[in-house]
Amino acid sequence: MAMEQTLSLIKPDGVSRGLIGEVIGRFERAGLGIKAMKLLQLTKSQAQMFYAVHRDKGFFDSLTGFMSSGPIVAMILEGEDAIARNRELMGATDYRKAAPGTIRADFARDIEANIVHGSDAPDTAQTEIAFFFNSLEKV
Ligand code: UDP
Ligand code: MG
Repeated sequence: MAMEQTLSLIKPDGVSRGLIGEVIGRFERAGLGIKAMKLLQLTKSQAQMFYAVHRDKGFFDSLTGFMSSGPIVAMILEGEDAIARNRELMGATDYRKAAPGTIRADFARDIEANIVHGSDAPDTAQTEIAFFFNSLEKV
């Protein structure tokens, strides 16, 4: 295990449903440290850049429309094995397959509007952190 940083997003559904505190509380209780945080709204083209890896998928246009539909919270989480541990707290992409007690199992009712995003590997974590934060925005 190594000390890692990962990017976490609370998606527009998580913000509009009043789940910011709930989600951040789970990260804090799991011992993940918050190294940067902000509320912002992506444009459609920024959402398309962020999710460029999915540009050929059938859900790309809908996903990027959803991700630019309202404010989101972006955070850098830090801790031992933070990338995998955040993914564990999130649960599987499809809330119906997410383990009980995970954020998506507890709150998501839609495969697209699934409350949170989390980086999936060290290289994507680095790219995604740089997409949202410059060095002055991190502690
Ligand atoms: N998504 C979707 N339909 C699908 C698969 C994914 O709308 O069939 C959305 C969902 O919001 C998901 C995001 O696209 O969180 C990115 O998909 P990915 O496979 O990277 O899942 P994640 O890493 O978020 O678990
Ligand atoms: Mg992903």
